[in-house]
Amino acid sequence: MSSSIHTTQVLIIGSGIAGLSLAIKLADNFQVTVLAKTTLAENSSIYAQGGIAAVLDPFDSIDAHVDDTLNAGAGLCEIEAVQFVARHASQAINELIDLGVPFSRATEDSPPFPFHLTQEGGHSHRRIIHAADHTGHSVQSTLLKRVKEHPNIKLLPNHMTVDLIVSPESRRCIGAYVLNKSSRQVLPIQANFTVLASGGASKAYLYTSNPDTSTGDGIAMAWRAGCRVANMEFNQFHPTCLFHPQDRSFLISEAVRGEGGILRLPNGEAFMSRYDERADLAPRDIVARAIDQEMKTHGIDCVYLDITHKPKDYLKTHFPTIYGRCKKVGIDISQQPIPVVPAAHYTCGGIVTNLQGETDLAGLYAIGETAYTGLHGANRLASNSLLEGLVFAQAAYQSIESSAIIPITEMIRNWDTSRVSEARERVLVSHDWDELRRVMWDYVGIVRTDKRLNRAAQRIRNLQKEINEFYRQHRLDSDLLELRNLAQVASLMVASAQKRKESRGLHYNLDHPQTKRRAKPTLLKPKNFA
Ligand SMILES: Cc1cc2nc3c(=O)[nH]c(=O)nc-3n(C[C@H](O)[C@H](O)[C@H](O)COP(=O)(O)OP(=O)(O)OC[C@H]3O[C@@H](n4cnc5c(N)ncnc54)[C@H](O)[C@@H]3O)c2cc1C
Repeated sequence: MSSSIHTTQVLIIGSGIAGLSLAIKLADNFQVTVLAKTTLAENSSIYAQGGIAAVLDPFDSIDAHVDDTLNAGAGLCEIEAVQFVARHASQAINELIDLGVPFSRATEDSPPFPFHLTQEGGHSHRRIIHAADHTGHSVQSTLLKRVKEHPNIKLLPNHMTVDLIVSPESRRCIGAYVLNKSSRQVLPIQANFTVLASGGASKAYLYTSNPDTSTGDGIAMAWRAGCRVANMEFNQFHPTCLFHPQDRSFLISEAVRGEGGILRLPNGEAFMSRYDERADLAPRDIVARAIDQEMKTHGIDCVYLDITHKPKDYLKTHFPTIYGRCKKVGIDISQQPIPVVPAAHYTCGGIVTNLQGETDLAGLYAIGETAYTGLHGANRLASNSLLEGLVFAQAAYQSIESSAIIPITEMIRNWDTSRVSEARERVLVSHDWDELRRVMWDYVGIVRTDKRLNRAAQRIRNLQKEINEFYRQHRLDSDLLELRNLAQVASLMVASAQKRKESRGLHYNLDHPQTKRRAKPTLLKPKNFA
């Protein structure tokens, strides 16, 4: 066995809402190590604004939450997963309240539930609990504080998993190789249980609302290790993200259109009425597709969201964050329209798991956005994703708690760096990054065609060849690892989109515009699937 090996009982890869809530649950009985590839606080969870869906109002019902989720999922949700999540939602929220998350309080006198519940598109009741418009930040800060206080939890920020370690004898996951980004050494971490809580893959697209961490590492690593993935063709796009070189990932809330904002071309023409009778108030998917169509037709980089007809004071009061953030980059939204583009927002597919968060590999779990549990189907219902992370953290906890700890007797090799050299031509990596994300945006984006998908598949195959060669020959760094993972995940997205010969939910193909009467999730199996 390697002398420099770090051992832990549970290795959690990811410090978002899914990873941290699991760590807190396990820590009283297990030695837990939590990895984050940058800081512990940089992840999608911290940027979540809206809130978390749960049936908390006595006038609401689990059945209604289930129905709303199934409607959004456009016929592809797995009913057991939807019921499971809806039933466990209130318990997950009560645990966060007990941990001290400062959710916004109800304003009415003695309401049936003491916290404020808001309603979002697709929900038939008020069921979104939130902490003002910074829910993710409030939840993450509370969880991080608890995690830091616990003596059984070892936190390793700036540690990036390279690949999972799978025992060839038992076909069990027994840990991971991890790059220490400061020393640039790759060390094995041996673990009885390994949990991927590594977030989504929206960085595969040129424009995204996600932070840089969302490069689908978990999905790529699980695939290489022999796990199935599902529904990778369903990536949710938010219609309006700020288009500005200094601030690329900032969402311009749909409430701006709700308050009369009009989408315009650079020449001032309002175009949404050409696409839908509800014009700018059409649902998210229709607006995203319309903007994409206009950008492609006119060869323009962005469209404009115009709310200049509202007085400055009104905008400052109703949209303080948007007003302030745009002002910071030199846009006075009371005087100028806001440049916007649609942006990749959420990965509905992922690593296939059961209702315990278990993957195809013994000893390996996947929870949060990296997992495919069957909850979202072909489209995600707003505010169901933080909830999914919490509910499956609890499910994985129960599974780990009740499992026997199998001793690891296998030899784990040290990472071999004897045949690699320092990369001199960094431009090869940066160029491939740009090309990959551009190919995904142009050919595998909001509106697809068979021809575009075929072209993307070919380009990505070529990129993968180059990247894998570079990977074998050079010393590792995080950019190269992320690029390798993104290329892998992009190829899975294209393969899934090519398999779906219809348009459904988030997948829209001009060559197959109809929705079939019956459809199944898209399941991909790796060659080494046992
Ligand atoms: C702007 C924005 C607003 C949103 N608003 C809402 C909302 O209101 N309600 C809602 O339900 N959802 C919302 N979402 C979606 C939701 O935030 C995410 O789906 C959820 O936070 C994902 O949590 P997670 O724990 O799975 O992953 P993340 O929070 O993304 O955490 C991933 C973690 O994995 C680590 N990691 C990744 N790869 C590696 C590796 N190779 N090695 C080591 N560590 C690694 C990262 O460092 C990070 O710590 C929003 C998302 C965004 C971007």
